[in-house]
Amino acid sequence: MKSPSWLLLFFLTSLGPVFAQSKPAADLIIRNARIWTVDPSRPEAEAVAILGDRIVAVGSNAEVDAWRGPATRVLDAAGKRLLPGFNDAHVHFADGGAQLDNVQLNDAASPQEFARRIAERAAKTAKDEWLLGGDWDETKWNPAQLPTKELIDPITAKTHVAVNRYDGHMILANSLALKLAGITAPTPDPAGGVIVRDAQGNPTGALKDAAADLVYKVIPASTHAQRRHSIERALEHAASLGVTSVQHMNPDYADIAIYNELLDEGKLTTRIYAAPLITQVDDQVKIGIRRGFGGPNLRIGALKAYADGSLGSATAYFFEPFVDQPANRGLLSEEMHPISLMRDRMMKGDSAGLQLCTHAIGDAAISTILDLYTEIEKAHGPGDRRWRIEHAQHMAANDFDRFAELHVLASVQPFHAIDDGRWAEGRIGHDRASRTYAFRTFLDHSVRLALGTDWNVAPLNPMLTLYAAVTRATLDGKNPQGWFPEQKLTVKEAVEAYTMGSAYAEFQEKEKGSITAGKLADMVLLSDDVLQIEPAKIRDVRVLKTWVGGKLTHEGEGARQ
Ligand SMILES: [Zn+2]
Repeated sequence: MKSPSWLLLFFLTSLGPVFAQSKPAADLIIRNARIWTVDPSRPEAEAVAILGDRIVAVGSNAEVDAWRGPATRVLDAAGKRLLPGFNDAHVHFADGGAQLDNVQLNDAASPQEFARRIAERAAKTAKDEWLLGGDWDETKWNPAQLPTKELIDPITAKTHVAVNRYDGHMILANSLALKLAGITAPTPDPAGGVIVRDAQGNPTGALKDAAADLVYKVIPASTHAQRRHSIERALEHAASLGVTSVQHMNPDYADIAIYNELLDEGKLTTRIYAAPLITQVDDQVKIGIRRGFGGPNLRIGALKAYADGSLGSATAYFFEPFVDQPANRGLLSEEMHPISLMRDRMMKGDSAGLQLCTHAIGDAAISTILDLYTEIEKAHGPGDRRWRIEHAQHMAANDFDRFAELHVLASVQPFHAIDDGRWAEGRIGHDRASRTYAFRTFLDHSVRLALGTDWNVAPLNPMLTLYAAVTRATLDGKNPQGWFPEQKLTVKEAVEAYTMGSAYAEFQEKEKGSITAGKLADMVLLSDDVLQIEPAKIRDVRVLKTWVGGKLTHEGEGARQ
């Protein structure tokens, strides 16, 4: 039905001038900032005005001053760099929060130190509680050998232990935990998993991928209070680092329930897009929701799938064997046994309008997923689906074009490049390493990037991600000019992929991702200008202030990890 013309006339004659005279004033104006807006129509600005949870003006100090009213708060940014808030496209948010309180094994530099920290924590662990987390990394030891249960059994006789490798694709369980899970010498390797064994065939305690699930199954589920505490820790950590949105890969439903609870209480200070496991596809299909369902603070409508394991655990799935393990070319995940099982789930999810986000690391795993995406497009026709491959680490040469043709997004984590870059070439050789974390090649093929960290696999700090993308300087200091430097991104490209790129990856590029009038006021003020300083110094930049929807969620010196 059309509006009657007299109504239109009424608006034009009487309301028009009223609006012009009493334009609403901004709640907050930030002036004297160096703003990189990530909006190509106005890339640089001095000031921004916020009303409610939205940006209402971006421009020069004088332009934005027009929004000043008697109650407007004005912040003088003293020439500091202001950017859109970071949107981490791939996190394990509740695990990350839990890990902040768990035993820290990642920087344990030797098996002895690893055992010492576990002993210390076991002494403080209640007898019905498990000792979990850790994020250990044996590549930092000399020699780099997997830990075994013998290392920790004598100090954990009364405590169940299942500490994970930092990539999440392997755990070390002690004898008590193995016993409860029923894992003994005759236990066969499950599909998509490996029970690491000694020369006599006895389990060493190291369990890869699906084999770790045998232990995970017997760990008591965390209580509501524990889970909420972890998520609150994660929210606080994100705010301190300028992360204003996260995309939570494979959350438990209980995590989503807690997000909702916090949202009701006005305490959800990071925007969440949650992608539950594709093994549970029927649930989202049943309720009939589609990609990007929900509000600006909390949305679902995506599915997270696993095609393979990880490079560090030698479970990423390749066409050719590993250089250092000639009998091994990795593993397809349990969900890919058989591949038709994955195809059916993907077809079902896509028919229902759900977004597919698939973890694929090895070249053969990535190719296989691209094959499946191609089949789905053939069956269901073209559409704006924004399929993603999570990690997209080791590319076959001819798959870059296939990414572009299918409009698949590469959801990548640059910190992994400077971490794995220490040893990756030894595992896959020079040729395959040249197409590893190939961020520049993706851009050259017009493939969109979404940046993230994979926290708690890597640190959540966006400054480390930018540093990694821009320098590609491996953590061991051996590649100061960059590991495969031709794949470096510029700071502007990395910031764009971490803001607009990630927003696009969750169907939110019209709502956030740039400092643009009309968008949500998610912003971060930095201690130093990442666009001007020497790239090597980016990792030391701190977050002075974080705003989410115009609300200050962090103020201070900023966390440094
Ligand atoms: Zn992940």
